[in-house]
Amino acid sequence: MSDKVSVPEIFGMNVFNDAMMREHLPKKVYEELKNTIERGALLNSEIADIIANAMKDWAIERGATHYTHWFQPMTGITAEKHDSFLAPPSNGKAIMEFSGKELIKGESDASSFPSGGLRATFEARGYTAWDCTSPAFLREDAAGITLYIPTAFYSYTGEALDKKTPLLRSCEAVSRQAMRIVRLFGNDRAKKITVSCGAEQEYFLIDKDLYKQRKDLIFTGRTLFGAAPPKGQEMDDHYFGSIKERVACFMHELNVELWKLGVPAKTQHNEVAPAQHELAPIFDDCNQATDHNQLIMEAMKRIAGHHNLTCLLHEKPFAGVNGSGKHVNWSLCTDDGQNLLDPGKTPHENAQFLVFLTAIIKGVDMYPELLRLSASSPGNDHRLGSQEAPPAIISIFLGDQLQDIFDQIEHGEATSSLQGGRMRVGVNTLPALKKDATDRNRTSPFAFTGNKFEFRMPPSSGSISGPNFSLNTIVAEVLREFADELEQAEDLHIAVHELIRRTYVEHKRIIFDGNGYSDEWIQEAEHRGLPNITNSVDAVDAFLDDKVVELFGRHGVLNKLELQSRAEIRYEAYVKQINIEAKTMIDMASKQIRPAVVKYAGEVARSVAALKAVGVDASAEEELLNDINANVKLFHEKLKLLTEVTEQAGMLKGDSKSQAIFYRDYVFETMKELREPADRLEMLVDEKAWPLPTYGELLFNI
Ligand code: ADP
Ligand code: MG
Repeated sequence: MSDKVSVPEIFGMNVFNDAMMREHLPKKVYEELKNTIERGALLNSEIADIIANAMKDWAIERGATHYTHWFQPMTGITAEKHDSFLAPPSNGKAIMEFSGKELIKGESDASSFPSGGLRATFEARGYTAWDCTSPAFLREDAAGITLYIPTAFYSYTGEALDKKTPLLRSCEAVSRQAMRIVRLFGNDRAKKITVSCGAEQEYFLIDKDLYKQRKDLIFTGRTLFGAAPPKGQEMDDHYFGSIKERVACFMHELNVELWKLGVPAKTQHNEVAPAQHELAPIFDDCNQATDHNQLIMEAMKRIAGHHNLTCLLHEKPFAGVNGSGKHVNWSLCTDDGQNLLDPGKTPHENAQFLVFLTAIIKGVDMYPELLRLSASSPGNDHRLGSQEAPPAIISIFLGDQLQDIFDQIEHGEATSSLQGGRMRVGVNTLPALKKDATDRNRTSPFAFTGNKFEFRMPPSSGSISGPNFSLNTIVAEVLREFADELEQAEDLHIAVHELIRRTYVEHKRIIFDGNGYSDEWIQEAEHRGLPNITNSVDAVDAFLDDKVVELFGRHGVLNKLELQSRAEIRYEAYVKQINIEAKTMIDMASKQIRPAVVKYAGEVARSVAALKAVGVDASAEEELLNDINANVKLFHEKLKLLTEVTEQAGMLKGDSKSQAIFYRDYVFETMKELREPADRLEMLVDEKAWPLPTYGELLFNI
């Protein structure tokens, strides 16, 4: 039985949040800090010293010995280097110190992080700068308690080396443009617009002892071999099924840990595949949601170990059953609490809502390649476009009600189907839109779900920074165009109506309410001119596209050099990932599978000889032996081929893009060919002789 917990008591107890700051800081300092957090005002060094000192006292009171600047390099996970609060001892006595300088800026000679050419090792200075918009927190583990300070990470010359910097820049960009729109609609109270984001996290839990017996899981996070078990997910008995006690204990400990960190973990359930689960927090400002998602992933991996479980965050740990994604729910919200994607109750709000909605439609249609890239990773290549996940083609699901409104607007003389009256956008005959008036579409990669969009493509193991900053910037750009136009209008209502109608007509090809998994959609999408980018290597081109360079440049989110470096990092990461997978496959095939099968074939051969020697019909045994032998032969050939192409790939000269293409077209393809005979052999060999835990054991053991 687990201990009872009081959520209100523990929630945020390890966070130096607003309440803590108010309590621990002099009033004037608190106000200055708030001014910085809310309006980006500069902090002076005296104030920083006071804050650092208060933060240190608070942390030490709770048992912290160390602090760390916590940052998000281009590896997609987080990084940290711990320093103790210890200052040079005086008379042999320890003094604990933490200055404003140390709080605000750290220098990290973290030259081994991917920089895509932005830093050579001889000019490896990298800085971490305090992001005061995401609160510092204490992390406890068996080793002790550490103060974590969320930071941005950039180079000596000021280029972003991380996932946080462009995110923060994009939040400012979209706020700036969205403010212009809400002002047009008469909102003069709001001071800024925030991006709200709720990321649903899917994951697998498997037994740790079994995990340790599989090099593929250890080195690559996914199984590289494995025949389908007799039962998969066809019974739909795992989805939303009752949660097994061992898993429930894990979830409980995870929730408690997250609540203490101020992560509003809310929903948990079993997912479609056996051994698959999901956690969704309550949405938050997207910078914090991004930090929180990193904490969620990290806590999942760590806490699983306490229950002798291993958490797999890979997008496709097992062939043949669903993979994992991360649904990024996204909306815009004024600081006075209005969700701009909530259709609202009055016609006036509806018109503003439709402007934002139309901007998103246009943005997605203008930059589908960028969104596709933001959701791409080598692991997600297994998921996007197969039968379970969103297709690789970006489209938008609106639902019947909104579709109907747009149809009416398109044909000018719109008649409201809801109220039967005449309708013009922005005039008082516009009907109130109802929330949830339409059904859902689970196959759409980008679906309107009542008062937010749900971007369903992003990879389960990746940072949600990319999907967020891409969306933010795209939407900022279209809002900029819209604001430029509407601010000049003589009659706002007429201009809004015209803008929505025109934009909808130009961009409605991106809207698709049908089955995204069907083959017809692939053809239809091609007919509509929508891109179908099937893999993460091709996706990278988007970063180098002039249109995208201009977009990011205009809004100050990423400059050309930063984009080029990110493209470089993507190619390199792909090459490294596939190289590790190929080498792991070669290792397992040579040292585990082949010896086991050869040995077993020897036993069968001896049986055949023995049966024949006593004059008994050995045709069944002989058939089995031939079958094994034929597959071993193929297996052996493919193993040799994989070894060759992997060696060849390793010696490739030339740019990283062509290397990535080689890995995709030859190494990755040969890996698939090697897997086939191996999985057949698994079905031919005595299970006691098979050297790896099977899919059945891995997926149904808990
Ligand atoms: P689903 O049925 O898709 O699971 P939920 O209503 O449970 O939908 O919401 C899923 C996620 O969307 C949660 O993280 C939730 O907090 C988040 N969410 C809800 N409203 C918003 C919003 N306005 N902006 C961003 N995310 C939101
Ligand atoms: Mg959802």
